Amino acid sequence: MKVIILGINHAGTVAARTLKRLNKDIEVVAYERNDLISFLGCGIALWVKGEVKEPEKLFYASPELLQSEGISVHKNHEWIGINDKNKTVTIKNLDTNEQFEDNYDKLIVATGSWPILPPIPGVDLDGVQICKNYYHAQKIKKANEDKNIKNVAVIGAGYIGVELVDAFVESNKNVTLIDVETSIMPNYFDSELSNHVQKRMDNAYVNSLLGQKVIEFVGENGKLKQIKTDKTIVDVDYAVLSVGIKAQTQLLKGIVDLDQKGIVKTNQFMQSSNNDIYAIGDCAEVVNLTQDKNTQIALATTAVRSGILAAINIATNNTLPQMGFTGANAISVFDFSMASTGVSENFAKKLGMDYDSILFTDNDRPEFMSTTKPVWLKLLWDKKTRVLIGAQVGSESNHTEIIHMLSLAIQKKMTIDELPLVDMFFLPHFNKPYNFVTLAALEVLGLNYFKK
Ligand SMILES: Cc1cc2nc3c(=O)[nH]c(=O)nc-3n(C[C@H](O)[C@H](O)[C@H](O)COP(=O)(O)OP(=O)(O)OC[C@H]3O[C@@H](n4cnc5c(N)ncnc54)[C@H](O)[C@@H]3O)c2cc1C
Repeated sequence: MKVIILGINHAGTVAARTLKRLNKDIEVVAYERNDLISFLGCGIALWVKGEVKEPEKLFYASPELLQSEGISVHKNHEWIGINDKNKTVTIKNLDTNEQFEDNYDKLIVATGSWPILPPIPGVDLDGVQICKNYYHAQKIKKANEDKNIKNVAVIGAGYIGVELVDAFVESNKNVTLIDVETSIMPNYFDSELSNHVQKRMDNAYVNSLLGQKVIEFVGENGKLKQIKTDKTIVDVDYAVLSVGIKAQTQLLKGIVDLDQKGIVKTNQFMQSSNNDIYAIGDCAEVVNLTQDKNTQIALATTAVRSGILAAINIATNNTLPQMGFTGANAISVFDFSMASTGVSENFAKKLGMDYDSILFTDNDRPEFMSTTKPVWLKLLWDKKTRVLIGAQVGSESNHTEIIHMLSLAIQKKMTIDELPLVDMFFLPHFNKPYNFVTLAALEVLGLNYFKK
């Protein structure tokens, strides 16, 4: 069998390696338009901030490594066409401009996503930057080190934007954060959690222009000078745009079913509406457990798992259905760490879900210890079934790993009533005899023995 993989970053890399490990006789050929693969975008802000000193370590694979594993990787090769009847793809060699066709038995589309460039006047000015790959990271790092660049704006208060704000603040830039939404990271965190980061940003003199829309990038001699929003004007020397992503699936129009946003619709085996075409990573839908439908979950973690799933299902003729995904994610900025899984209350409202929730606060360790830190936990569950649908945690101490357990609880459809019975350890170094998760769930049942 011959499998062609289009796009080989996180999803494509793991799919290729899984196929070869499961069956070395499967011929795996990958086409990638970039010359670098497996770049960890999560390291961009950390590199800008100075935490990552060797950016080359943000790659965990290379075309040469994959070649040594028997995978035929063609970098600087762009997929430009497909004939699903003949089962061929058209590829352009970007070094020579030569075009050729290659045939497949199974095709894996792993072309991921690209940052949205909104049609705002001046968006193409020098000094307006998107943030996705290593080459963007190099430019952002260089701008951060440029002493002439003092005023920086970040447009988009999702996790990429907020991480960059944290990094620019660390470098003593004057930072403006702009977003149409009225709170930061609203899809992942409710304000009870995100306010802790917002307060820290305010204390660091970040100019947060929330609830404002950028209407123009104003330039002088082709260079960015100001940003006009619908409410104000700010002087800026440099701006990073992180306002969302678009799935790279244009070539699949009319070939497989796409949703309204152009994301490939998939079944439980990561197979598109064409049995011979699988789709994985940012360009594909997965089963979104808490929304009870298939959606894109644009995270490296989902990309990797969907890649493993597609490869196993190609090699075994569809034997492993997906468990479904929760979109578990985390962020650590301004000395505050948060993680979430499933839906936030903001999002549950948008979706018109019928839910209940609790916001629970406690010290993370027993008060007899020399130090304790407060921890905030928010839980959401379906009002009728009482099945958990979301969880958020935040603290100055790192309690993000509790979200792994809560993701599993959501995947296994645990109810809020079962949660206090999860067999959690106790050790004073790390938690209280009644762990804050246990106690939050007990409080929902009216059984918080410590509540006065
Ligand atoms: C700044 C930043 C920080 C992030 N931090 C995190 C994090 O902390 N945790 C997390 O889980 N996720 C994080 N993500 C998200 C994560 O990077 C993406 O979900 C992940 O990259 C998706 O992987 P993918 O392989 O599906 O797609 P992509 O990474 O988009 O890769 C797609 C590949 O396909 C290639 N391609 C596209 N079109 C063609 C074509 N026509 N022909 C040939 N090749 C093509 C592209 O060049 C690319 O290499 C972050 C993303 C960014 C930008």
